[in-house]
Order: sequence, then C-alpha cells, then structure tokens
Amino acid sequence: MSRVGIAGAGLLGRLLAWRLAAAGHEVQVFDPAAGPDDRTPPQAVGWTAAGMLSPIAELETADLRTAQRGWRSLDLWARWLPQLSRQVHFRREGSLLLAHRGDAGSAQRLLAVLLAKAAGRADQPQPRPLSAAELAALEPAVHGPALAWLLPGEGQLHCVQAMQALAHEATGQGVRWHWRMPVQQVDAGRLDGQAYDHVFDVRGLGARPQLPVRGVRGELLWVQARGLVLHRPLRLLHPRWRVYLVPRPDDIVLVGATEVESEDRSPISVRSLLGLLSAAHSVLPELAEGRVLHMETNLRPALPDNLPQLQVAAGLTRINGLFRHGWLLAPALVEEALAASGLREAA
Ligand SMILES: Cc1cc2nc3c(=O)[nH]c(=O)nc-3n(C[C@H](O)[C@H](O)[C@H](O)COP(=O)(O)OP(=O)(O)OC[C@H]3O[C@@H](n4cnc5c(N)ncnc54)[C@H](O)[C@@H]3O)c2cc1C
Repeated sequence: MSRVGIAGAGLLGRLLAWRLAAAGHEVQVFDPAAGPDDRTPPQAVGWTAAGMLSPIAELETADLRTAQRGWRSLDLWARWLPQLSRQVHFRREGSLLLAHRGDAGSAQRLLAVLLAKAAGRADQPQPRPLSAAELAALEPAVHGPALAWLLPGEGQLHCVQAMQALAHEATGQGVRWHWRMPVQQVDAGRLDGQAYDHVFDVRGLGARPQLPVRGVRGELLWVQARGLVLHRPLRLLHPRWRVYLVPRPDDIVLVGATEVESEDRSPISVRSLLGLLSAAHSVLPELAEGRVLHMETNLRPALPDNLPQLQVAAGLTRINGLFRHGWLLAPALVEEALAASGLREAA
C-alpha cells in the first residue's frame, strides 16, 4: 500500500481520494477551502456545474477522445454511484437538442459537425431526429421548438450531492483532509516538501504557474417551477446562446451556462440573465412562474488547447484542463491515471 498526497479537494481530488482509499492506500488531501461543504466560489468549480454528461453534444467543441472518455465515464458513474452510502441523483435517459424554425440553418450546421466528428465510428451513438408527436410524448412540457433530436445514452448527475457523497465516503475509508491548507509546491513525491510515495496535482486553476491553465467564466441559475415535469436535459441551439436546461429533484431546473473568456467571478450580468432566461422560456413556457432560487458564477479550468491533460511521471500525476466537461471526464481520467501510475484501484 502506498502513502498518497493529493493537492486539491475538488471533483478530481474527491474522486481520487475515494478510489485510492477504498483500495487500501493511505491518503491525505490538501485544499484552501474551509471544509468539505465550503462551496462558495472561488472554491471548487465542481460544485457549480450543471452535471450534464453529454458525449455527443460536447463533440461540438471537443474531440473524439473526449467523447470516448465520456462514454466510459457514464458507465463508471453508473457502477460507482450506487457504491456510495449517500444517494446521488443520476439519470441516463438521453438528452434533447432543440431548435426554433428560424434557427434551422445553424442547427443543421451543428448536426453536421457532430456527425462528421463521429463519422465511421460504430461505437458513437448518433443524434436521432424526433417528430413533433415523439417530442410531445417524451417531454410534454416543451413547447415552441420546431426541430428536435434525441441524443441517446446521454445523462446527468447532481453535482452538489456527488461532491458531498464522495467526501463522506472517502472520510469513511480513512482519508485525512487538511482544510485551509493550500499547496504551493508540487514535485515528484512531495507536496510543499512533505514526502509521499505518489502525489496528485488536481488543483485546477490553483496549479498556476506550473501549468498554463486559465479560467473561463460560466454563469448559471437555479429556477424552481412547481409542478413542472421534465425528464431529461434540454439543449437549445440558439445562434447566439448555447442554453441548456437540466432537471433536478424538487421541481428545480438549472439554466446555463454562459462561456466568457474572463476570470471575473462577480455575479451574473444582466445581459446573461436576460439571454439565458428568455431562451429557456422560449422552449419551456412554464418557467415563467418559476422562482429564481440561486445564481452562480465560477471559472472552468482550461488549458490552451481546451483539452484535458493527464501527465503521469514517477511519483507525480497531474490532471487538469477539464474545462466544460469535468463531470463527463473525471471517472475515465481517474481510471487511466491510477492504471498509469501503478497504484492499485478499488474493484
Ligand atoms: C457554469 C458551469 C457549468 C458546468 N457544467 C458542467 C456540466 O454540465 N458537465 C460537466 O461535465 N462539466 C461542467 N462544468 C465543468 C466542471 O465543473 C469542471 O470541469 C470540473 O469541476 C473541474 O474539476 P477539477 O477537479 O479539475 O477542478 P475543481 O473542482 O475546481 O477542483 C480544484 C480544487 O483545487 C483546489 N485548489 C486550488 N488551489 C489549490 C492549492 N494551492 N492547493 C490545494 N488545493 C487547491 C480548489 O480549492 C478546488 O477544491 C461546468 C462548469 C461551470 C463553471
């Protein structure tokens, strides 16, 4: 068994800590947050995410490898989440791409990109066009869009529940957490000079200047619309706004998310609020009487090519650049990282 040090208790840090401790390793985790439930930005962006698990739709901006890791992660979430003692809301009933008639051109262009990137790959599920009757049967609350496609096999999870459940489980497996303790220097087998058999650098934006990671602003709202029934995430192909709506328990819908090249974590702008909500309302009219419960802004950690990076060397693994796909990619990256670093993983 190995002594493992982890810098960062966000999404990756919690998942690594749990998997390693469950396999019998001695794990210590360091993070500047005040405690396991400290979720006010600038803490981990893992808390803020909408939890869409969308390997098909994310092909718009990502590569085929990201999609393949996404499918692997969906299978791993389905296997791992039931092992946690706290329940995490997880669904895998596909998602919907929607477009208004006037935006048919940009929708067709996006569809062409998705199909081209997955061309010739029998293992990549394809968007399936839906008739108006099929759309009404799947999501009766949706009104307005003339065009719809089902993205089969895509999923979603509740990020706040998952962050809490992972920390709880890891604690039960003996992980030692060091809160209010940022790590300044990560070297092979060392965190701020303290020795370990292996260390992980999963500090997101905190990994600067060792990695050229930047923050990409994302804004998102939680709306509660009593009585609204939505079974799966929706993505509206608006030429100006990429808007998604993600159902969560208790009649809550997350409406997100902007993508702005800025490291400003200040509250959501009026422009973003108007754009996101008017686009969302144009496909889900019942949102009009909803109540805005919460608004959140945080920064996605992105590398210059916007692709994830997994670097494994003797005594040191760095994972970063999960950008807009962290929940989609984390399990697959953790699995690859543990295999490459030779650390035994839990069954
Ligand atoms: C609005 C929004 C919506 C999103 N929606 C989705 C989505 O639907 N699906 C999806 O897959 N992804 C989504 N994401 C992206 C996802 O949240 C991120 O990719 C993911 O959380 C990155 O995980 P991480 O572990 O690398 O970083 P984080 O979760 O940010 O964790 C990094 C940790 O390192 C800690 N840290 C920082 N500095 C130090 C230091 N010096 N020493 C020790 N620790 C340190 C931080 O406190 C933090 O706890 C979204 C992001 C945003 C902003």
